[in-house]
Amino acid sequence: MPKPSGGLGFWDMSAFNQALVTKQEWRIIQHPDSQIPATVKRFFWRATQNYLPTFGNLETRKLRDSLICPRCKKEPEDTFHCLVSCIYARRVWKQTSFTTLLLQTRIRDLLSLWKYMATLLTRLEFELLVMVCWSIWYSRNTFLYAGDSRDPWRVYIRAEVILEEFKSATVDSYQVRNSGTGPRQIYWTPLQSGWFKANVDAAVREAEEYAGLGVIIKNKEGKVMAAAVSKRLYLVM
Ligand SMILES: [Zn+2]
Repeated sequence: MPKPSGGLGFWDMSAFNQALVTKQEWRIIQHPDSQIPATVKRFFWRATQNYLPTFGNLETRKLRDSLICPRCKKEPEDTFHCLVSCIYARRVWKQTSFTTLLLQTRIRDLLSLWKYMATLLTRLEFELLVMVCWSIWYSRNTFLYAGDSRDPWRVYIRAEVILEEFKSATVDSYQVRNSGTGPRQIYWTPLQSGWFKANVDAAVREAEEYAGLGVIIKNKEGKVMAAAVSKRLYLVM
């Protein structure tokens, strides 16, 4: 199929529609078993429905005079710009393995873009993509309301660390016993009062010679008490 001028580019439209029907990854948002925090699921759904309070949306509702992006100060801040095309979002995506796919596509509608990405990524990859979106939005808000501007790598690693912590917490919170004859039984084992749990994770980028370390400390109710990420030089010996 020839590439349509000004159209969707390199992929076949009918194949794409078929893929949407057959691929299940997109259902992550509604899927009860998808392992991303509920707040992030709600964020992502609101983003795809254009419900986020971007400056563009606030201007449309007469709640702001300007719709210009507060970070790049160059283009209107709609949801797609904020999460994908803004220079600050692009710098975060460059830290991920999704950047090439995002740069290749000409899709400019957020819902269509994520549906398209869902056809190409594994479920685990798509979960990380959702977390990175959330982290970009979180970073935008902390910049806007607290003046805190994290470097793109930290925005990315926060998404990865929190996702890994969330996944491990759902496993670590259970003690699995196997009787050897009957079915495996799962028992809830909460932390004792006064105890804290620390989850540690690391990500290594050999090509770029750095490693990221992250730690999250939670109390017995599961409330995050402290979190930190750090970037370190990584050398293969
Ligand atoms: Zn911008």
